[in-house]
Amino acid sequence: MNLSDHKIIIALDGFSSCGKSTFAKTIAKRFNYKYIDSGAMYRAVTYLCLKHNAVNKNSINTNILGDLLNDVKIDFKIIDGNQYTFINDVNVEKEIRTIEISQSVSLVSANGDVREKLVEMQQKFGEDKGIVMDGRDIGTAVFPNAELKIFMTADPKVRAQRRYDELIAKGDDVNYDEIEENIVSRDYQDQNREISPLRKADDAIVLDNTYMTPEEQIIWLDKIVAEL
Ligand code: C5P
Repeated sequence: MNLSDHKIIIALDGFSSCGKSTFAKTIAKRFNYKYIDSGAMYRAVTYLCLKHNAVNKNSINTNILGDLLNDVKIDFKIIDGNQYTFINDVNVEKEIRTIEISQSVSLVSANGDVREKLVEMQQKFGEDKGIVMDGRDIGTAVFPNAELKIFMTADPKVRAQRRYDELIAKGDDVNYDEIEENIVSRDYQDQNREISPLRKADDAIVLDNTYMTPEEQIIWLDKIVAEL
């Protein structure tokens, strides 16, 4: 199928730090599609919650959260070829990628009001199709009728090493064990939450990229698309 002419919805779900966003960006570029990082949206709300003291250890202040959700606007803007996440017109791309956000995001994303609000925004982004969205519940809850669903996975140690290398390259002072622990804990929390837990949609195709290069993943994709 020629996906550039025939616009579809591509749902890309999977575990933390599997390279979903890199793969999603490659797909978007290849077919001239819009790319939406739904994880960035959960991170953005988490950032707001931390900033406004709505998160206290393992609980969320629902009054503060309610006000924040009423006012929140999340957009993505491309500047010099890179995509950035904006909350209420402020670029928060750097702020939402810290380990502090990663440690609180599973708690915030398990909240039903947060999910309801963000799923609604995500469905609006997909109204005109021609979109690739990555996340945890895209093929199961956001776009259950997506024409192509991919479920990505990779060995947790390989994922932790990739994430560690990425953060070190950005100049962050990080600890490998802390990153691995966070990945394993997020996998667990994402799979075991009550609302829209992370799981493979029945009609999703699995991509295990533990031993694959980015080039091999593109070859894999082209084969899948040719069969659509
Ligand atoms: O994709 P990323 O690792 O940035 O996502 C951060 C967190 O946001 C995940 O660990 C998960 O808790 C949450 N998330 C979610 N549903 C999505 C995308 C992300 O619950 N569709």
